[in-house]
Amino acid sequence: MTAAHPAVLGGPPTFPDPVPLSRPGVAAGDQLTAEFRGILASGVLTKGSHLDRLEREISAYLGVEDAVLVSSCTVGLTLVLRCLDLTGEVVLPSFTFMATGHAVWWNGLRPVFADIDPSTATLTAADTAAALGPDAAAVLGVHIFGTPCDADALAAVAARRGVPLVIDAAPAFGAWYGDGSPVGTKGLVEVFSLSPTKPFTTGEGGIVTTNDRSLARAVRVAREYGNAGDFDCALVGLNARMPELSAALGRHNLPHLAGWLEQRRALAARYKDNLADVAGVAFQHVPAGAASTFKDLSIIVDADRYGLDRDALSAALACEGVATRSYFNPPLHRQTAYRDVAPRHLPGTETLARAALTVPLFPGMSPSTVDGVCQAIRGIHDAAEAIRPMRSPAEARL
Ligand SMILES: *Cc1c(COP(=O)(O)O)cnc(C)c1O
Repeated sequence: MTAAHPAVLGGPPTFPDPVPLSRPGVAAGDQLTAEFRGILASGVLTKGSHLDRLEREISAYLGVEDAVLVSSCTVGLTLVLRCLDLTGEVVLPSFTFMATGHAVWWNGLRPVFADIDPSTATLTAADTAAALGPDAAAVLGVHIFGTPCDADALAAVAARRGVPLVIDAAPAFGAWYGDGSPVGTKGLVEVFSLSPTKPFTTGEGGIVTTNDRSLARAVRVAREYGNAGDFDCALVGLNARMPELSAALGRHNLPHLAGWLEQRRALAARYKDNLADVAGVAFQHVPAGAASTFKDLSIIVDADRYGLDRDALSAALACEGVATRSYFNPPLHRQTAYRDVAPRHLPGTETLARAALTVPLFPGMSPSTVDGVCQAIRGIHDAAEAIRPMRSPAEARL
């Protein structure tokens, strides 16, 4: 059955109670409340045992030498680049969350945008190599939407130029690479986000993971203003600490993560099965053997085949009570703050910025809700001809 009359044409919305894009995974309960009470009663609100224990639990979980907890991924990336004492250019994708570029910018480094493969949405080794000029200081890869980039290929390209590979792994805690190794174990260093939209959350927070003990030591000092204990800073750091309440939430959530990820992957598979026969709807390619966290499940809309472009589909889904987000549009190279970055030809980036649409996915989302969203996408496609002449909400505002 298809919705004969999509809401954008005046039919009843598929979801009178709107479906959000995401919802944080938090295993709330008495045990967590008791933990919080204990922390508040102890008077140790920061730099306590929960932080130390969560760091050890995470490094064991990933099988990595060091996990350094920080206050966010943005700050973690910023401090990592600072600790590496880089100057010059950093090659990174434009198709990413703004924070990837901001970490480069805050260090006075110059971003150079390399192109992505629009099917994987991650950096191509070929264009990364092409973007590495004489002033290159690092490659900054991104596991976009929670799907691992080709870290081995990027590491090889970076090594040929003698620069490190740093990875923005923000949405990918719990993902693994094609060779089965956990995300968090490749490149010189990987940096995760623990903000509430990510699969593993501490409210706000970040994790720097590395097998380079001296880099881990440097980041630990850098998150403490750069004060190694003698109050004679060798490096200008930040306060990037994670509070105890957040660390306790992380310790409480970590054992639930595998189950939540399983749910996310099952829901993503359900979307794919359900939409397999809808013309013009494709999905981000997950490399063979790899696993995504599906922090974002993004469909890729081929406007010619689907009958409507991404923005028209997004507007029609909003009428159905389905939240969507056009991640990542505009990409960094078209954002005002990055207007002075030298232009490069980024056809893969432009394609995906025009076509990608993130649809709802979160643990606890029911399979029937996925079916309803898919039904709406199908119904809107079936009615595309009637919808197409309508002015888009964006146009209507002009
Ligand atoms: C979420 C995200 C960030 C930002 O993480 P914060 O912890 O909010 O600073 C950075 N990069 C990517 C790719 C992200 O998805």
